[in-house]
Amino acid sequence: MEGSVEVRSWLRCYRCWSTNLEVQVHYEGVHRIDPGTGERAEVVDELQEAVVQCLDCMHDQPHLGFHNGRVEPIEDRWERMIAGTPWVASVTVAVDSDDVETCSGPEAGDHHSYAAFGDHGTREFFTHVRFHKHEGDEQTIVHLLVELYARSAEEATEVLEEAARGVLTITSLAEESRPPAVSGEERGH
Ligand SMILES: [Zn+2]
Repeated sequence: MEGSVEVRSWLRCYRCWSTNLEVQVHYEGVHRIDPGTGERAEVVDELQEAVVQCLDCMHDQPHLGFHNGRVEPIEDRWERMIAGTPWVASVTVAVDSDDVETCSGPEAGDHHSYAAFGDHGTREFFTHVRFHKHEGDEQTIVHLLVELYARSAEEATEVLEEAARGVLTITSLAEESRPPAVSGEERGH
């Protein structure tokens, strides 16, 4: 990949390598009012959420965060996602049934993905819950297809093992081809 040694090689889409990105920032703040000028003064409370998205393939960018007005790479994640390829794993995760918020209805897939892989399951991985099975009252076995980015089969396995919130069984793991790179840098927006 070109430019991999540049300082900001992380500042691109992890799927199509486009540098055509935007950040959606949601800000909620409570501020004191300056009695003299009526201006917004010191912060009492604030909450900021930001999602970086690629304008070419429209995917969220979980390897990028937004702090102090600037996009920054998320360490321990960006190199794997930028230099890696997609891997698709067929897995089961045995989770505590209490960790599944609801197991039916339109939200069930998200709740099972979260129970199986936490934030990775809902934010980084592409997950498809095929089905789930209750083992008695205490345990739920979640069967999923997971797509994640990694530089090798070993790394993909490690990432899955670290993210799993219950006993993980990987039944298959295969490398997929990377989506075509966008040559966005030369187009000159
Ligand atoms: Zn993209």
